[in-house]
Amino acid sequence: MQEAMIKRAKELLADGTVNRVMGWKKGEFVYDTTPAVFETAEELEKEFVCNDFTQANLSKYLIKESRKEGKILAFLKPCDTYSFNQLLKEHRIIRENVYVIGIPGGPKLDMEKIKAKGISGILDVKNENFTLKIETLYGTETMPFYEAVSGKCADCKSKKHVVYDELIGEDGDVLASRRFDMVEKLENMTSQERYDFWRGELSKCIRCNACRNVCPACTCENCVFDNPKSGIDQKAAADSFEENMFHIIRAFHVAGRCTDCGECSRVCPQNIPLHLLNRKFIKDINSLYGEYQAGADTTSKCPLTDYDTDDCEPSIVHERGVE
Ligand code: SF4
Ligand code: SF4
Ligand code: SF4
Repeated sequence: MQEAMIKRAKELLADGTVNRVMGWKKGEFVYDTTPAVFETAEELEKEFVCNDFTQANLSKYLIKESRKEGKILAFLKPCDTYSFNQLLKEHRIIRENVYVIGIPGGPKLDMEKIKAKGISGILDVKNENFTLKIETLYGTETMPFYEAVSGKCADCKSKKHVVYDELIGEDGDVLASRRFDMVEKLENMTSQERYDFWRGELSKCIRCNACRNVCPACTCENCVFDNPKSGIDQKAAADSFEENMFHIIRAFHVAGRCTDCGECSRVCPQNIPLHLLNRKFIKDINSLYGEYQAGADTTSKCPLTDYDTDDCEPSIVHERGVE
C-alpha cells in the first residue's frame, strides 16, 4: 500500500496535477509518525510512511494548505473523508485546490495499548497475520493485533469514502457500528453517577488544548478560549467549574458538525474519552431530529441549524427525564 501511494504521488507530481503531497512522515520509530507535506519525489522516497500507526486525520491541515499556490494531493482514510466533506460544507477548504486519493482505513494501532501490556523499550512493531511481533531493547514480545487497535478504529462507523478523486484499493461500506453502546451505559446511570464519571475524567484535564487544536470542527480563526479578556485563555483550569466549562462549551460548539472522527480522544495525553460527549449529541440529534451524519454529504442541512415546525420543543429535556 505505501509503495502504491508513493508511486501515484510521484506520478501526480511529475505530470503537474499537484505541486505538493500531504501524508505522514517517518519518525525515529515505526509508531512515531507525523502529518507532513512533501514537495519532491526524493522527499517521498525518503520520508513518506503509511503504516498501522498513521492514524492522524489530515483534513484539518487542508484549510491552510488549500489556500496556498497550486494543488495539493491528500491521502484520506474513510473517516477522514467525512471531516473533509464537513469542512467543504462549511466553506473552509477550497475543493479545487485539493486532489483527494481515498485509501483504505485501519484498523490502526494505539501504541499506548501496547505499552499498557507492560512492554517497554519498544524499537519496532510488525503485524504478522494479526499477531504483533514487538522488538524491544529486552527481546521480542508478541500480542494479538486486535488488542492494540485504537479506540477510534474499534468503533469505526464507516469504511466508505464519501468524497475522493480516485481510490487506491477497494471502497468499503457504512458499518453497523456499536459506537453508541458506551453512551447508552452513561444514559442508564443516575445523574449523580454520570456526574461522578465526568468529574473523574475531566478533573484529569491539563488544558493543553490538543483536543481543540486537532479537532476538524474547531476551525475558528479566533477561538473563545484564546480571548485574553475571558480570564481563562491559555491556562490550566483553576477549579472544577473551569474544567467542566471548557469541555461543555467546546462540545456545544461542535454539536451537529462533529463527524465522530475520534481525534480529540486520540490525542488527549490524559486519555479522557472526550468523544463520548460529542457522541451523546450525535445520538440525541439522531433520536430527536432523525438520522443525521455530519460530513456524509456537502448539501444537507444540519438539524441544529435548520428549523422545522415538527421540531421537538425545548421542554424535551424535562419530558425525557434527567435521572
Ligand atoms: S487534550 Fe485532554 S488534557 Fe488536553 S485540553 Fe483536551 S481534554 Fe484536556
Ligand atoms: S469533537 Fe472529536 S470526534 Fe468530533 S470532530 Fe472534533 S475531534 Fe472529531
Ligand atoms: S472551542 Fe468553539 S470557538 Fe474554539 S475553535 Fe472550537 S468551535 Fe471555535
